Amino acid sequence: MKLLRKWWDALRSWLRRRPAPLKAVRVEELPEELDGKTLYTVGEAEHLWFAAMVCPCGCGETLYMNLLPDERPRWELTEHSDGTASLTPSVWRVKGCRSHFWLRHGMIEWCLLDTA
Ligand SMILES: [Zn+2]
Repeated sequence: MKLLRKWWDALRSWLRRRPAPLKAVRVEELPEELDGKTLYTVGEAEHLWFAAMVCPCGCGETLYMNLLPDERPRWELTEHSDGTASLTPSVWRVKGCRSHFWLRHGMIEWCLLDTA
């Protein structure tokens, strides 16, 4: 049993290291605990209100990206046929960890230069 657990832990940490794209999931309400490998798009039917995800830097903060056209700042969400999504423009936290990245096809592309 102990050995099995060790093997499972090793497998899990290996899986975590592999860069896997975030899956875009539509929900009407954000779950209490967010999965770090999911981009949640929250809304009803065709109307999306915002997208949410766990900050990819590991700080544990939840990031909210407004998708409503009348509010600023606003992000453009593109959903792809493989179940991933892209966000435009880049996501740039001005508070906390100051993460700055693009989400393209579910992959996090870190911005190392201060350009949006
Ligand atoms: Zn962060």
